[in-house]
Amino acid sequence: VNQQHTSGHTSTKTRLLIMGPPGAGKGTQAALLAGRLRIPAVSTGDMFRALQHADTPLAVQVRAVMAAGGYVDDATTNDIVTDRLGATDCADGFLLDGYPRTLSQVLYLDELLAQAARRLDAVICLRVDEEEVVQRLVARGQMSGRVDDTPQTIRARLAVYQEQTAPLLETYRARGLLLPVDAMGTVQDVAERIALELDGHAALDLSILPTP
Ligand code: ADP
Repeated sequence: VNQQHTSGHTSTKTRLLIMGPPGAGKGTQAALLAGRLRIPAVSTGDMFRALQHADTPLAVQVRAVMAAGGYVDDATTNDIVTDRLGATDCADGFLLDGYPRTLSQVLYLDELLAQAARRLDAVICLRVDEEEVVQRLVARGQMSGRVDDTPQTIRARLAVYQEQTAPLLETYRARGLLLPVDAMGTVQDVAERIALELDGHAALDLSILPTP
């Protein structure tokens, strides 16, 4: 794939996705990386968790979907992402965590970026084995009380991920955007691997800050 360099392409125009199964550590790594790149981390999971406590029909719906380990419908999800990416702090780049997760969302994001004459720079994909993921999520559920971190819901989320989201990686791989990263090990180890992958990515010219 021919990654065309646009002349004004600098580290202040970075648009990234971070993908991977539930429990891979996307949120943790997204926050670290976004801080180092000085771009906002945009997590659809966080946005849905924030709105689920409201007293609205949407909140009721989101709560039910999340508790069952399913995906919120594409129209609702695309709408909140459109709003968020339209905010001024996203104008110079963003790191999307947990979106897109369906083919319809991939196509929607393509369109949204095309309308703004923007494109993605890279897609980080965190890889973990399933046993590790289940253990992490069960542990997190005990600490955080997240309603979707129960053993039953975790299995459901992994199944939905495998069925609907994992195949999307191929789309980004075919575009030359996919950066697979081994996400086993410490937070620090994984953060360093991500930084190395981004440094080596031909389409990117990032002044990434050193790991703390
Ligand atoms: P995890 O990746 O660990 O499952 P997230 O915090 O990213 O956790 O997402 C939590 C839940 O929020 C998901 O299980 C799903 O119900 C909902 N959600 C998040 N992002 C999306 C999305 N892009 N499309 C549909 N539902 C989503």
